[in-house]
Amino acid sequence: MQGSVAREVARDRRPPPAMADSAARYVNLWSEDEAIGEERVRAFVLILRTRGCYWADVKGCSMCGYAKDTLGRSATPGELATQLEHAMRAYRGEPYVKIYTSGSFLDDREVDPASRRAIVATFGAKARRILFETLPEFATEATLAPLRDAFAGELEVAEGLESTQPEVLRRLINKGSPPSEYFAASERIRALGIRSKGYLLLKPPYLTEEEAVADVLASIAEAAPRFDTLSVNPVHIQNGTVVEWLFRRGRYRPPWLWSLVHVMQEGAKIRGSTRLVTFPTAGGLPRGPHNCRTCDRAVLAALEEASLSQRFDGLSELDCACRADYRSLGRLEALGVEA
Ligand code: SF4
Ligand SMILES: [Zn+2]
Repeated sequence: MQGSVAREVARDRRPPPAMADSAARYVNLWSEDEAIGEERVRAFVLILRTRGCYWADVKGCSMCGYAKDTLGRSATPGELATQLEHAMRAYRGEPYVKIYTSGSFLDDREVDPASRRAIVATFGAKARRILFETLPEFATEATLAPLRDAFAGELEVAEGLESTQPEVLRRLINKGSPPSEYFAASERIRALGIRSKGYLLLKPPYLTEEEAVADVLASIAEAAPRFDTLSVNPVHIQNGTVVEWLFRRGRYRPPWLWSLVHVMQEGAKIRGSTRLVTFPTAGGLPRGPHNCRTCDRAVLAALEEASLSQRFDGLSELDCACRADYRSLGRLEALGVEA
């Protein structure tokens, strides 16, 4: 069943090849709170419109709907330059810059090598840290060294590791590479003096809430020595995904924020010197991680504060009547009862 759902979902995921006018427009940009070490800073976030992730064409991950934001073909260097030029009008010298492409910044089919260097160099005068994302196979000395040389600040490369359990990664998330390839890429990244960040997914489909918590905690334990930062990303329902297919049929609930609180509290004890952060998307919304409506805002604020400060004791002060429901859900799931 899983395979046919994935095929059905993948068929209408990618848009037809785009016209030139949309190729000149980036997908989105905004500014957000971040931290570099102990210093609170603003981060400039830019999503470029590119060809998007090749893996989304091959199979696609069960929770990822980013293909919707892509061009359906490669962007030309000129189109990428125009997107950047438009985006720079909104850049206010934020020290932290995050460049996303709905795929891999280091895949030549998404961003050609000269454009990559030009983008990094454009922020060079003001940014202190630039982050971009990639699949592990593209994180090589050949792609990374020219970028490191084009930017005087610190580079940070993020990989969507999601889970260190090979079966969770392969069967539930549909990733194309095993965890060992993410670990190897992280080693290559660090060997070049570049920061390495890993994303861990909280609650892939087909896991109970309890199993999902155990999966992330096991992943933190195994991944922490291999990454400088680990970011726990709770699933939110994106359009055109397997997770949405299940959600619409009442067979998937995004994770509880209490699960995330527990993961951060317990993860903080085993992360060593690695930063452990979470900045949930769609937090408090029905399609994002949520508790009851009453406590969502306070829980999200405490999670953000813990992520920025790396102090997790504030999380133990959180409580709400819905926490009892959450605990009984765990007991029901353990008995095999669908909530
Ligand atoms: S999660 Fe990453 S690897 Fe998977 S389809 Fe989306 S962009 Fe590609
Ligand atoms: Zn509540």
